Amino acid sequence: MYQRVAELYPICRSITGDGFRETLRRLHPDVALQLHEVPTGTRVFDWTVPKEWNVREAWIKDSRGEKVVDFARHNLHLLNYSVPFCGTLTLEELRPHLYTLPDRPDWIPYRTSYYKEDWGFCLSQRQLDGMSEGSYEVLVDTSLADGYLTYGECLLPGEETDEVLVSCHACHPSLANDNLSGVALTSALVSTLSRLERRWSYRFLFVPGTIGPIVWLARNDERTEKIRAGLVVACVGDSGSFNFKRSRRGNTELDRAAEHVLRHIGGDAVVEDFSPYGYDERQYGSPGFDLPVGSLRRTPHGRYPQYHTSADDLSLVRADCLAESLRCYLEIVRVLEGNRTYVNLNPKCEPQLGRRGLYSLVGGRTDAERREMAMLWVLNLSDGSNSLLDIAERARMPFPEIVAATRELLGVGLLEERKAA
Ligand code: ZN
Repeated sequence: MYQRVAELYPICRSITGDGFRETLRRLHPDVALQLHEVPTGTRVFDWTVPKEWNVREAWIKDSRGEKVVDFARHNLHLLNYSVPFCGTLTLEELRPHLYTLPDRPDWIPYRTSYYKEDWGFCLSQRQLDGMSEGSYEVLVDTSLADGYLTYGECLLPGEETDEVLVSCHACHPSLANDNLSGVALTSALVSTLSRLERRWSYRFLFVPGTIGPIVWLARNDERTEKIRAGLVVACVGDSGSFNFKRSRRGNTELDRAAEHVLRHIGGDAVVEDFSPYGYDERQYGSPGFDLPVGSLRRTPHGRYPQYHTSADDLSLVRADCLAESLRCYLEIVRVLEGNRTYVNLNPKCEPQLGRRGLYSLVGGRTDAERREMAMLWVLNLSDGSNSLLDIAERARMPFPEIVAATRELLGVGLLEERKAA
């Protein structure tokens, strides 16, 4: 995953254009993505697919002809979605088009102007301080023209047609944690889950932020009924603690699964309620959809100083943190996959476990007590109204231990699955 972040880092991405396409193409062959191209001007609910943006070059030259700001050196230098411009300006005339971070004089800010036609440059405060009065030649050689919005989609079918949605935004240029960590983790989830047997179907979306999920939801309005759980992946590569943002409803199976996993994974995980601000959970959680989609991240957007600056680079993301995040996502998937409801076939008083070999089986094990306890919980609560996740929560035991106990009880015919009506 770290290598994936490093490989994609230099590409200049935006919500449309060749950088976005190139990013999705690089995910092949690990992720068999279907690329969708949606024409400029397409109406999607209250929005319209914007013109496609591409960059050839962009720079500011001083009076000696030296490039003092150059997109070729860092793609954050150009205000994302800048319209073409060519001219000679004084520093005073140039200033309204320059963006810096005075508090962080060495960092370049990341700024966009998707929905207002403008041009500009982002630079470090130190660079700006080094620019003397005088005239500057400016070139913004971009194109903003009718074209397409691209997004990638991948479906891994399971036994059931109900779906788990995993969505990440892939529209930021050279930013590592915000954006690329999510792209890398989502890709790794695709590769991992494609090799496993699946109960649910899994749909993965690699979309430009905001407009991407709006486009997908507009084109798949009816399909959303199939979504039983979903996660928005973002900011999963830094060393911060886990942070889970609940779905709009807040108490769906997805919410309970994620909270359960975080409670048992250790560390200082934080659970937050839904809010209509953040990443693409805003669209999935709009009232007309109200999908059971939450977001599992580490340090959320806007709460680390490097956020949306050139300091969100490869040094902020760690391979071990990415791996730990992937493990956490897979634990949530494990709960969603394994959460079934059973009925105890011997409900009047406890069944005799010793006679069925269950005590002797666990007798020599160091974890005997826990296994026995898990079996007692499963037998007691399996009255057809409690799922295995309900039982794990009530027993305060990790889900996999409850599943293991269930398997043993199924093996001796003490349980039967209660199929949903
Ligand atoms: Zn962002």
